[in-house]
Amino acid sequence: MLEIKNIHKSFGKNEILKGVDLKIDKGDVVVILGPSGSGKTTLLRCINFLERADQGTASFGEINVDLKGASKKDVLSIRKKTAFVFQNYNLFNNKTALENVAEGLIIGRKMPKQQAYEISKSALDKVGLSEKYDSYPSQLSGGQQQRVGIARAVALNPDIILFDEPTSALDPELVGEVLQVMKDIAKEGTTMLVVTHEMGFAKDVANKVIFMDGGVIVEEGSPHDIFVTPKEERTRRFLRRVL
Ligand code: ATP
Repeated sequence: MLEIKNIHKSFGKNEILKGVDLKIDKGDVVVILGPSGSGKTTLLRCINFLERADQGTASFGEINVDLKGASKKDVLSIRKKTAFVFQNYNLFNNKTALENVAEGLIIGRKMPKQQAYEISKSALDKVGLSEKYDSYPSQLSGGQQQRVGIARAVALNPDIILFDEPTSALDPELVGEVLQVMKDIAKEGTTMLVVTHEMGFAKDVANKVIFMDGGVIVEEGSPHDIFVTPKEERTRRFLRRVL
């Protein structure tokens, strides 16, 4: 469904991604693990053009693009196939939960308001926020705000949802509710690419785990491959530190 080849990205002289390949099939839940600064977030942001890669190609269904030179039209087509869940939620503070979810449908997808609100309500119901349609972000906990962020992604019905450390900004007691929602939507067959430090989620929910370090994929495989029988010393060292 999505295949990325040889992606490179530098910031100034700092080469952050040094030739990463990635293949994601429909229904996959792929978790990317790795130490801070290894390029995980940058990889995710390059996939939907929040950052422009310096080199690499992407095949996304029928769309084949050169990541560096992709036209505006291709960028928009790929963005339509993806939705992004941000570490810091990225909600509009002056809009209610419902308006936040509906915004992308009304503005981005040009959907009639009434239809957008119906879809947005069922997305909010799905993440357990049916009582909070009219609440503003400031009236919601961090966990609830992130669930609005997930509802916004779900409402777009994308081919894949990209999660960028979705629980990193949360107080520890709020992490569980967000992971549960992610688990629920994974169970429904949603294709997901998740950057996270939550090892439990990676073990229980992912069907594929990627370990990145220093801008390259060091090792990838099933959760069992990575957590129980890692082949690379760098992977073992990382896991010793985090488990
Ligand atoms: P973390 O787990 O800490 O979020 P990460 O693996 O997701 O780390 P990235 O966020 O991709 O790592 O960052 C990799 C490196 O790229 C870091 O050293 C970061 O400072 C640098 N970097 C990221 N974005 C930019 C930018 N816009 N300008 C300059 N440097 C950047």
